[in-house]
Amino acid sequence: MGKHNSYDFLIVGLGFAGIVMAEQLAKAGKKVLAIEARGHFGGNSHDRFDESGILIHQYGPHIFHTNSQRVWEYLSQFTDWLPYEHRVLAQVAGRQITLPVNLNTLYQLFPAAQAQAYERKLTETVGLARSISIIELRGNSDADLRKLADDLYEKIYLNYSYKQWGLPPAELDPQVVGRVPIRVDRDDRYFRDAFQGRPNLGYTKMFERMLAHQNIEVVLNQDYKAMLSRLAYKKLVFTGPIDEYFNYKYGRLPYRSLRFEFSPLDREWYQGSAVINYPGNELFTRITEFKHLTGQQNPRTTILHEYPTGYIHGQNSPCYPIPKKENSKLYLKYKNEADKLKDVIFIGRLAEYRYYNMDEVVERALQASAKLIR
Ligand SMILES: Cc1cc2nc3c(=O)[nH]c(=O)nc-3n(C[C@H](O)[C@H](O)[C@H](O)COP(=O)(O)OP(=O)(O)OC[C@H]3O[C@@H](n4cnc5c(N)ncnc54)[C@H](O)[C@@H]3O)c2cc1C
Repeated sequence: MGKHNSYDFLIVGLGFAGIVMAEQLAKAGKKVLAIEARGHFGGNSHDRFDESGILIHQYGPHIFHTNSQRVWEYLSQFTDWLPYEHRVLAQVAGRQITLPVNLNTLYQLFPAAQAQAYERKLTETVGLARSISIIELRGNSDADLRKLADDLYEKIYLNYSYKQWGLPPAELDPQVVGRVPIRVDRDDRYFRDAFQGRPNLGYTKMFERMLAHQNIEVVLNQDYKAMLSRLAYKKLVFTGPIDEYFNYKYGRLPYRSLRFEFSPLDREWYQGSAVINYPGNELFTRITEFKHLTGQQNPRTTILHEYPTGYIHGQNSPCYPIPKKENSKLYLKYKNEADKLKDVIFIGRLAEYRYYNMDEVVERALQASAKLIR
């Protein structure tokens, strides 16, 4: 620290939001100091090799997909991509079914004649190649489709939502329960985006290249507040939790957290797919086997069980904002304060209290940095 006496920008947090901001501002000739509380950059998208030499995603599986050509081309300056299309299975009633539910799933769950009848009804009512949310399907005027929806809801959605959020679905924003649609087609890919892939050398290598600019100085293992009095800068880009910035003056924004349990195994493969969801009574929600995601060849493998838990400040990390009306209201109080600060830019999933996919954060940061450079 201290290569430059003063900086044009101080960036707090080096996840996707902070890294894209740093890269763009530095390229435009601005001097940037970036401070990250953790011992690594990349935020929740960080990956690393574990003790068995397996490339793991430290904060759960991160699959890159986007419909934005601009985002894809931007990141492609820093990485090549290997083709990857994500497929997810769920362990239900002793067998593995395709997720999100599509016409194939019906034949995995029901006897052929019943599946055929459901297929006909879905095709007639919803339309081939269309999709419908479980909430909408449960309210359908057709009694058979309502029965199908109730069955799927019980088997796939109910307990999973409860485990994931710690709340019965009725208490959640219906948008969340219905986020994963039912698709009237046979395309088993989890994402349909135009651009999908895995960074050929992993996310961390890509981030390294993005940060390798003479105008960027990085400090790790450092909470920004402890350094503020020693720094001179013109503007602050804050990607940490917005309630923390304002010293929690309106109270804490609630989050759901995850406990990650990694298991290195002395065998080549554990399961047939990158991610298998468990919507039953198990305490974990899903098991990931990283080699399926990364394409790595190795005689050993590493798997990850994810256990959703409550978020306790200082003990674990805030993972998902809890989508309830009262939480959005609390966030708006902070946003109102944030809007008054002309020299502080709040950006990213923690600063905007919003679940963003990686590509959405990149897009947001490209827009925000362009505005600052102008
Ligand atoms: C389990 C899980 C799975 C996901 N899977 C996918 C996926 O498959 N595909 C996808 O597109 N997206 C996925 N996401 C979303 C993805 O993680 C986010 O889009 C991305 O992390 C957002 O980047 P960010 O920079 O806003 O936040 P973050 O990555 O959280 O980065 C914020 C950084 O700020 C740092 N920080 C916070 N406070 C301070 C402070 N006071 N001082 C210094 N530093 C601080 C934090 O340590 C952190 O490194 C997933 C998220 C989770 C939780």
